[in-house]
Order: sequence, then C-alpha cells, then structure tokens
Amino acid sequence: MGDYGAPLFLAWQLTNRCTGSCLHCCEESGPDKAWPDEMSREQCLSLARQIARMGVPYVAFGGGEPMGSPHVWEIFEILARGGVEIKIETNGLLLDDAACDRLKALNVACVQISIDGATAAVHEGLRPGSGYAPAWEAIDRLVSRGLGPELVFIPTKLNVSGAVAVYEQAARRGVRTFVTGPLMRLGRAAAAWEALACSEEQWAAAAEALRQASLREKGPRLALYPWGIQAEMKTRAESPQAMVLVVPNGRVKLLNALPFAAADLKTETLAAAWPKVAAAWRRPEVQDFVRRAQSDPGLLRHANECWDVALAGA
Ligand code: SF4
Repeated sequence: MGDYGAPLFLAWQLTNRCTGSCLHCCEESGPDKAWPDEMSREQCLSLARQIARMGVPYVAFGGGEPMGSPHVWEIFEILARGGVEIKIETNGLLLDDAACDRLKALNVACVQISIDGATAAVHEGLRPGSGYAPAWEAIDRLVSRGLGPELVFIPTKLNVSGAVAVYEQAARRGVRTFVTGPLMRLGRAAAAWEALACSEEQWAAAAEALRQASLREKGPRLALYPWGIQAEMKTRAESPQAMVLVVPNGRVKLLNALPFAAADLKTETLAAAWPKVAAAWRRPEVQDFVRRAQSDPGLLRHANECWDVALAGA
C-alpha cells in the first residue's frame, strides 16, 4: 500500500442502523443499533469531497443499511461529480423505482443485494426485518435499468443446501454476479457460531455445486470468496491492500475483523489518515493480534470495537 498516495478503495459504513436484524450480521446492526457518535451530515459531506479531491477511484457503502442514511444521496452526488465509482451493499428495501432511477442517473458501478434462501421462510428466518419479495423486486428494478445487480448469498447451516436453487433463481432474474464465500466469524455470526456455521465439508460441497451450476446455467458470474476471516486477516497483514475502512463514527480501521483504529476522520483529514493506516499495519500489536487470532477465534469478539493503535512511529 505504500506505493499509493491515496487509497485505491474506501469501504464506508455510513451507519450501524438497519431495518434488518440478521442472525449472522458481522456488524451487529439493527433498528436500534445506530452508534451514538455517528458522523454528522457535514462531516460525511466533507469526507466525500476529500475522497473526490484525493482521487480515490472506488467507494463501497455498507453499514448497517447505507440507504437509510439521511445524507446518502448528497454523498453519492459529490462522489459521482468527482468521478468516484460507487458500490452499495444493501438489503434492497429502500430501492423503489425512484431510488433506482437515481442510481441509474448516478451510473453506480455495483449494487449488491443479499438473498439468503430459495424461499421467503429461509431468507426471512436468517434475516428478520429484511424482506424476501422486496429484495427480489429491487433486483428486478435494477436489472430493468441495466444496472447489473449482484446477489450476495451467505452460507449457514440453515440455508447452505439451497445455494444452487438461489443461483438458479438469480440466473432467471438476470443477476450479473452471484457472490458468496464462507460465513465470516464476526459479530452475531461469531456469537452464534455453533448454531449457524456449516461444516467445511458442507461449504466445499456447496461451492462445487455452485461451480457446476454456473457451467450449466449461463447464469451470473460466480464470485467465490476463497477463505474465511482468519485467513483474510493473515493474508492482509502480510500484504495490506491499499484500502481504508471508515466506520460510522469516522474512525479509520484496517479491516472489519480487527479492532484497531488508526485515525479519526472527525478531527483529521483523509490525507493525514492514509499514511497512518500503512503504519498501523506494521505495528507489533496488530501483527501479534492477527497471529494469535489464527488459533484463538475468541479474539474475533473484539472485531466491532475501536482500539487506538499507538502510532508513535508513524
Ligand atoms: S441487512 Fe446487512 S447490515 Fe442489516 S442486519 Fe442484515 S447483515 Fe446486518
């Protein structure tokens, strides 16, 4: 990441509030889970202008539910005017016709909507508060506007057997990409790991069945994330990506699995924060945490915390 004067990619969790309360939510989001110190409209718009000025090519919005933020459209307008590509990770409930028209006008690069079952009962059992029919309807609206939506499927014990059925539905609906990978052991998924996580064998069988379906179906491109969160941490710690993660209160974290915060965008500029992210990855406490988490998944319970990383050597 030291090769770049700005992040190539910024992941921005606009709010931790969400209409959903998914059993496997990595961020522990929900209707009453907004953080008390989330960034204000002015702070968000300032950050959006900085992103455009620095020439960050790509911003991915998540949450919580990013479309529920009252200033999300203003942020999008600033980024689109600045030539920044926009990706949105959403449950789709707020993507009515008018919203999809606006996304089309903004030429957003990627909208990802989660569908976790071949039936409403499975999807809504895993994702209370995230409607099944409305999620598909949002996908249909995006397809009809040529926006090429992506579908995200999170495998658990409760739905892994339906992975191919969801893929086949996605093929019929015109989804561009079917995105899946091992359940991440973070947030509520970590807290309910025994009840939710499917075995490695179940996941490997589902992944192979999806590969076969993608060869048969002429359906969506299949994007299989290759590893779980512990391998993700190790890989990124060895060779950090040129990216930053901004959480709802403006703290800059290294990765959603890591509790370390390198900077605070409420009080610092993105330009000042960027070299601190690279320095934080090199800190012994960060590298040590990653190493210990390989054999102690209990450390992952800290993922959604923000610890100040000592940057005396930054
Ligand atoms: S829709 Fe996404 S952010 Fe909201 S609770 Fe579910 S997994 Fe979490």
